[in-house]
Amino acid sequence: MSSDHEENVSVYVRATYSLDGRTCAWCREMVPYSGRGRPAVYCSKACRNRAWEVRSAERRLQRDIAAGVLRTEPVRELIRETVTETRTVTVRPKPPAPPKPAKPSPEPGVPTSARAWIALLEALGEQLRDGELGRQHWHHARLYNALVEAVVDLGDAYPGGLDYLRNEVTRRRS
Ligand SMILES: [Zn+2]
Repeated sequence: MSSDHEENVSVYVRATYSLDGRTCAWCREMVPYSGRGRPAVYCSKACRNRAWEVRSAERRLQRDIAAGVLRTEPVRELIRETVTETRTVTVRPKPPAPPKPAKPSPEPGVPTSARAWIALLEALGEQLRDGELGRQHWHHARLYNALVEAVVDLGDAYPGGLDYLRNEVTRRRS
């Protein structure tokens, strides 16, 4: 389009507005406007009542505050601290003491009386004199040791007994 000639265009726009509806002052639901009379403020009687209750409650509140019936200071809380300590002590019976190692009981066949030991030693002497044991010299050192240990134990059990025996033997010989 060239601009070598003028165009003069005039447009007149006119807009008209009409109320089609407005939202309820309480619930904000859109309430269609019929076009006649004052547009409704609330969609329903229920919303009108709710709004009225709130307004009157506000009025009461302001009146009470003004009258000093109601104080506007912030709510304070009084806190009571209750500390409860629960201590549970569980007492268990001590475990039974482990059984003491029993004294080594003599093996079966081992004499437990002096009389039986004497009989046994006499039998040993007999075997040494007359039996095979007297000729098995490779056993004799161990027999000596065993007999000496028994004699030492006897000396511990009856201190001085060995000295008495030696004197007795000397006395007999003299
Ligand atoms: Zn409403």
